[in-house]
Amino acid sequence: MLVIKHIHDLKNHLKSYKNIGFVPTMGALHQGHISLICEAKKNNELTVCSIFVNPTQFNDPADFKKYPITIESDIELLLEAHCDVLFLPEIQDMYPDGMENLPNYAIGYLDTILDGKFRKGHFNGVCIIVHRLLLAVEPQTLYLGEKDFQQCLVIRQMIAQEQLPVDVVSCPTLRMENGLAMSSRNQRLSQDGRKKAGLLYAQLQYINEEQHHDTFAHLQEKAIKTLQENGFETEYLLLAHADTLEILDNFNFSANMVLLVASYFEGVRLIDNLRLTKQ
Ligand code: AMP
Repeated sequence: MLVIKHIHDLKNHLKSYKNIGFVPTMGALHQGHISLICEAKKNNELTVCSIFVNPTQFNDPADFKKYPITIESDIELLLEAHCDVLFLPEIQDMYPDGMENLPNYAIGYLDTILDGKFRKGHFNGVCIIVHRLLLAVEPQTLYLGEKDFQQCLVIRQMIAQEQLPVDVVSCPTLRMENGLAMSSRNQRLSQDGRKKAGLLYAQLQYINEEQHHDTFAHLQEKAIKTLQENGFETEYLLLAHADTLEILDNFNFSANMVLLVASYFEGVRLIDNLRLTKQ
């Protein structure tokens, strides 16, 4: 695996490849990330992974400071997965003109709900970095995790608005045995906390199972209460149209629906989602 730090060297190396699959990450890699690398490897001549902890997408500076950095074990995992290129830029490579006068993306509705509402500026930071990374790598296909459901929609919209010639593949969420979605942030949970945090996904499954037997409002209230009784502080637990993220007051069985949750556990902000299945 080649480790490349500067955009100029990256472009030089990649120019002879026609079929590049790209997996952008912020590092602290786990098997969820590696599943995206494997998917990219299946369908592309060359697989590029980037690791860059992007400061402009952290609405909370303390969260940025605490973000885990584990570059040595990341490289080991990428080697095991036979990733071809690791792009490892420094801040000056991605923000050569500094942090002033950054562009504003027209995110619109998606920036007013869920993580857009609770993490002001987060998705604009995501658009800035993903756009810059796409211009640097120029992949044919971009691989994203459905774990960040809203982020997938925001990035697809940005790609359409900027008319970038890249296909997007959304990949399923990898989970621990107890259902907890794999996440770099899980490293900040205690060992016991990691076991207990499986309750978050269990509550989404519970609502999915009960969808024909109760109103969403009632199930939502029960789930938030159960989470609270077990040490979670929930920011949102909502039902939405899976294609548009239009928030739904109650189940609409003719629509594709998704449950989305953000909840703090042991001071760590966890997000998860579940597409409702036909029962
Ligand atoms: P991050 O490093 O958290 O920015 O994530 C990089 C990419 O990996 C994003 O597209 C995420 O959605 C994806 N990802 C993160 N966790 C998982 C997971 N548990 N399963 C599948 N993909 C994931």
